[in-house]
Amino acid sequence: MKHTILSIDQGTTSTRSIIFNENGNIINSFQKESRLLFPKNGWVEHNPNEIILHTIQTASAGISETNDKVDTIGITNQRETTLIWDKKTGKPVCNAIGWEDIRTSEYCAFLESKDFTSLIKNSTGLNINPYFSATKIRWILDSIPDGQNKAENGDLCFGTVDTWIIYNLTKNKLHITDVTNASRTMLLNIHTLKWDKEILRIFNIPLQLLPNVLPSSYDFGVTDPKIFGYEIPITGIAGDQHASMFGHACFEKGMTKCTYGTGAFILTNEGNDPLKLKNYKLLNTIGFQLKQKTFYASEGSVFSTGSAIQWIKDGIKLIKDVSDTNLISEDTKDNGGLYFVPAFNGLGSPHWKTNAEGIITGIKRTTTKYHLIRAALESTAFQIKDVLQASITSSNSNLPIKVDGGQTKNSFLMQFQADILDRTIKVAKTTETTALGVAFIAGLKIGTWNSKDEIKSIIKSKNVFEPKMKSSERDSLYSQWCEAIQKSSLTVK
Ligand code: ADP
Repeated sequence: MKHTILSIDQGTTSTRSIIFNENGNIINSFQKESRLLFPKNGWVEHNPNEIILHTIQTASAGISETNDKVDTIGITNQRETTLIWDKKTGKPVCNAIGWEDIRTSEYCAFLESKDFTSLIKNSTGLNINPYFSATKIRWILDSIPDGQNKAENGDLCFGTVDTWIIYNLTKNKLHITDVTNASRTMLLNIHTLKWDKEILRIFNIPLQLLPNVLPSSYDFGVTDPKIFGYEIPITGIAGDQHASMFGHACFEKGMTKCTYGTGAFILTNEGNDPLKLKNYKLLNTIGFQLKQKTFYASEGSVFSTGSAIQWIKDGIKLIKDVSDTNLISEDTKDNGGLYFVPAFNGLGSPHWKTNAEGIITGIKRTTTKYHLIRAALESTAFQIKDVLQASITSSNSNLPIKVDGGQTKNSFLMQFQADILDRTIKVAKTTETTALGVAFIAGLKIGTWNSKDEIKSIIKSKNVFEPKMKSSERDSLYSQWCEAIQKSSLTVK
């Protein structure tokens, strides 16, 4: 059916509002860069008011540039980032704590020492890690005046970014989230799809602080008419990686997608049964929920991929633009034996070493800055291989891996990725797979599309990269990478 859908994609480095039509084509797109705050080493914050300002500014621009009325809104967002605000005034009690923030790593180590690991894994599918919202919530309640009391009295609201945006777009009416975002808090039982009371007790987090958990495709409510000039229904919510999995039509068991942004996220569809396999190297999570049907996914979260390139540009200023890395790497014969492990925020899947430090190994008299640039790009591909090695039983290795995100613009990296994995890489035609995915989720609810098959028929790939590297070369490069990872882990104090 002919429809106009607004997708709001609130990412780590930017907020985008993109309007799609029923063919999945972009009508217009507006973006604002976000300012990340780094108050201390290992701390990453966002200004909650900036998130709302940029959401409303970009969405209003998109709506006013569109001839047709917007029929529905889908919201997709950086996950785990944690906000707490005053229920009455809607004012945040502090900055949002970003997903990359590791200020609670000591608390996580304490929880592990108390043997909560398998209880938390069995219920939430997650490994105890500062990355998830639960310990960030605890940190905020302990750090603001009278936090615990206020939370217990029901004076505060917790939310991930989706919840925060919806609270604001509905002028404090809706305090809700969807199952995918909830599954990243380390508080949701992914089997029952309810907040886990035992885990809430462990963290001493009162239930009344938490939003209502709903399916990803749902009639959530409408925006306040004063914000965009008329009420617009909200019918789709999904965490960014879940939305991109949907945007790649990874609807069948064994299908894998990878999104390359600040970090990289590899999700494989695991079907409808809650995961029995307890793979501590990967996360078990909710893929998406349509009507009453829940699709599960396994996930590898690699924390620093695009951020390594950003560091090369802004940190040590070796390049002017991140895209320069493409030609430089193609022109540099090989990595000169240099391996760069960008463990800026520790190592995520499959290593899970919170305190691992970034290292560069193999520096020689002949090493140049070009080797370092190439090693930074290669580190992305090696880290994806680490994840797929850990998920070999679930990801179907005969299927191409569907990819999207900022780094897929780099054809050197995509070819190197195909080579190092020995698998076909299919780059999505749209660079906005995440926003498209949540447009699909929202549109399924209002009848823009009636089935997943209809959605599959409109998804296209742009470039396909086939593996060309000899297996001996692949094995040699990868084994040197594994040595570098070992050394990075040795830096753990
Ligand atoms: P996010 O959604 O996490 O904000 P994006 O998908 O917008 O991220 O991707 C941005 C990241 O991709 C940045 O970290 C940037 O360094 C990296 N990036 C963008 N273009 C290129 C390129 N041509 N080559 C390598 N890295 C790139």
